[in-house]
Amino acid sequence: MTVPLSRWPTPLDPAPRLARAIGLHPADLWVKRDDLTDLGGGNKIRKLEHLFAEAEGAGATVLVTEGGVQSNHARMTAAAAARRGLGCVLVLSGDPDPRHPGNLALEGLFGARVVVGPAVDDVVAQLREAGERPSVIPLGGSSVTGARGYLTCAAELAEQAPDAVHVVTAVGSGGTMAGLVAGLGAARVLGVHTGAVPDPEARVAALVAALGGSAAGLRLRTDQVGDGYGALTTAAEHAIRTAAATEGLVLEPTYTGKALAGLVAAVQEGAVRPGERTVWLHTGGLPGLFGHPFAEQVAREVLDRS
Ligand SMILES: *Cc1c(COP(=O)(O)O)cnc(C)c1O
Repeated sequence: MTVPLSRWPTPLDPAPRLARAIGLHPADLWVKRDDLTDLGGGNKIRKLEHLFAEAEGAGATVLVTEGGVQSNHARMTAAAAARRGLGCVLVLSGDPDPRHPGNLALEGLFGARVVVGPAVDDVVAQLREAGERPSVIPLGGSSVTGARGYLTCAAELAEQAPDAVHVVTAVGSGGTMAGLVAGLGAARVLGVHTGAVPDPEARVAALVAALGGSAAGLRLRTDQVGDGYGALTTAAEHAIRTAAATEGLVLEPTYTGKALAGLVAAVQEGAVRPGERTVWLHTGGLPGLFGHPFAEQVAREVLDRS
């Protein structure tokens, strides 16, 4: 059961100039445009279609979820709650900085209440006392219910690119990779860990098993994290600049920059070879770019050159 929050399927676009720039043949590389969804764009919406159906079925009046200060998942939950006429409380961790507004600004526009610091359980208890019926969505929406959204994406890819040898995705809370693996098989999916959780492999494997798939032979790169979740790496910066300059695609430092850097490393190692049809999943996150100091750095550079 799902509630409709966007238009499907998302497009699969060729990326010949980017392919050539990273050492593949022009016809090898395709981008699955899960950035082109509603609610500001991104992968969480596929999960939220399932999670909102579950919450609404249970009679929820307010959705509660958690994440970092620039969580795309929190922003999309706030937008979905607005769309469905429900309340939304976002429990964020970290140090919000209004000079880098990004997702935080959108959450304000969507009418969510943002609290920084407290435990989710305490927020839920307060809401119950106030007569609300809260429903908690876990970090990144990566429950088994949420991960089902990526079974649907796997089915779209089976139609759009039946001969894809590799499907490459960023891995945060793991639900995206898990749904793809459950739908396409572990051998065809390459995940790139972003440092969002300490135990990505165990999380993905548990979700794959719960979805009825096999996680044997899971392909998960853990070499792109750098100084941690959200920290820009040299490889991600290069990937962001290359994707933008060759295809007009907008990536960001936290997820998609690292995911493309992981593909670049896989090509350099020969784990992904020219002639193998490769789908790179664009998981969205554009607002997060404007929540990161990197955007300010690029703006300064362009002004210095003017
Ligand atoms: C959350 C997120 C991911 C990671 O997805 P998970 O299902 O949490 O692993 C990747 N890219 C973007 C832009 C995200 O917001």
